[in-house]
Amino acid sequence: MKRKSLKTAAYLLIFCLLAALFPLSSLGESARHSALKKGDSGEEVASLQRELRALRLLDFKGEPSGVFTDEVERAVIALQHLLSVKADGIYGTNTRRAHIGAVEGGSLTPFYVEELPLYGCVIGIDAGHQQKADLSLEPIAPGSGMMRFSMSDGCVGVRTSIRESVINLEVSLILAELLEKLGADVVASREYEEVNLSNVQRAKLMNERHVDFWLRIHCDHSTDPSVYGARILVPNSIVNFNIASRSALLGSCIIRNYCETVGTELLLSRAMTGETGFNWSGVPVAALELGYLSNAASDIALSSPAFRRKCAEGIGCGIAEYYLASGRIDSNRYLEAFSTLRNQEPGEKADGLFALEFEKNLRGFGIFRLPLLASIK
Ligand SMILES: [Zn+2]
Repeated sequence: MKRKSLKTAAYLLIFCLLAALFPLSSLGESARHSALKKGDSGEEVASLQRELRALRLLDFKGEPSGVFTDEVERAVIALQHLLSVKADGIYGTNTRRAHIGAVEGGSLTPFYVEELPLYGCVIGIDAGHQQKADLSLEPIAPGSGMMRFSMSDGCVGVRTSIRESVINLEVSLILAELLEKLGADVVASREYEEVNLSNVQRAKLMNERHVDFWLRIHCDHSTDPSVYGARILVPNSIVNFNIASRSALLGSCIIRNYCETVGTELLLSRAMTGETGFNWSGVPVAALELGYLSNAASDIALSSPAFRRKCAEGIGCGIAEYYLASGRIDSNRYLEAFSTLRNQEPGEKADGLFALEFEKNLRGFGIFRLPLLASIK
């Protein structure tokens, strides 16, 4: 007996020494993690937040805070109810074990937004115009004495009489939904017709929200009813020098994919001067003219929900290509985004240097500065 208790004491001493020398994490699976509870913070809490988001028990955008808040506690309690373990809001050994078991056993299926192709991308979408024009004036550029209307009226369908603002909004809403499904964070200038937002306000919103870029969605008008097609407008390379090159790349990716998807012939791409929204923008920006409402066939097409969805899909493909071309996403993520948007296998897409080819074509117009495309894989 005495020998045995001496031996036990010796083991205990060795254990204490080891415990002092090494952190708990080296002492085996069951003791690797400490119990997490309200008030805790750190990488373990961040990882728990990701797991809870993957089970749709917690909602947050971007990276987790790493802080165990009331909200995290409520999510842990919800998880404990699902797992039929004691619902005390503490993520301890029992909850962790049951959680891992449920995922491995297939009764809980996590879905990690981090793996979505456009996760981490912040995209601004500006549906052009609004229900009522605002003919008050605002400076055309920061510090400029030149004034322009805060928000013009937009055009109206020659056959359907549908207002441009309605079509722009519909396409923008579908596009936002598609991009969010791909994991992007969308900043929309408006989600309703009944707003009053000037061009300057729209640009400032996008600057403040630090979007990667923003896309303005419009429809076109011509006095010639036979004119049809899509146009892309991008900032002038002299007036808006700091954003011109990336905006040109954005514009070329979008117009090419848009035309390829909806089958609309590209008429013209041009740089603009004196565009209030561009002048106030601190981030890349382009404006897409979806089609001519002065052309009866285009007007009728743009009134169809199916066609509007196609428009949004084409723009989405252009956005994915822009992220690929600017090195923000790899080709795997790009191909996943493309095939999700087009609902088809990427096939030939895998090898194409699309933006580059398109830039070559555009040089014929003598309009865009050729952006740096070295990063295209
Ligand atoms: Zn417009």
